[in-house]
Amino acid sequence: MVGFGYDVHRLEVGEKLILGGVLISENFGTLAHSDGDALAHSIIDALLGAAGLGDIGEHFPDTDDKYKGADSMKLLLNTLNLINENGYKIINIDSLIQLEKPKLKEFKEQIRKNVANLCNLDVARINIKAGTNEKMGFIGRSEGIAVFTVCQLEKK
Ligand code: MG
Repeated sequence: MVGFGYDVHRLEVGEKLILGGVLISENFGTLAHSDGDALAHSIIDALLGAAGLGDIGEHFPDTDDKYKGADSMKLLLNTLNLINENGYKIINIDSLIQLEKPKLKEFKEQIRKNVANLCNLDVARINIKAGTNEKMGFIGRSEGIAVFTVCQLEKK
């Protein structure tokens, strides 16, 4: 089963940027109801999609005060438990983070390990790509970040 996920957040000065549970910046990051971890949100949607379980908004509504400032890696862990309960296991996850700045090169491996550890998977099953949008559009103007994810699940 293949799943696809996409998440986007506005970027603002004075906000934190957290990706895959890794703190990237303390003073230029995502505006969000939760901690704004767009990578975690994108992976959650891909996993839910592959398992036929709807979307992140149904499971963790941003209108619910329970999720205000939520650690999105905990939401990802809840999602992993859910797909496990539904009889699925992960084959692989492949994500593309689109962000003009800061550059993620030095953080990519740490993010990968963090996601792999949470999923209890070998790092070879997790791939994290990062790129700019060549200064075009809202990503190129550093107004926002977008993350795309595909994943594959199989029945246990
Ligand atoms: Mg989000």
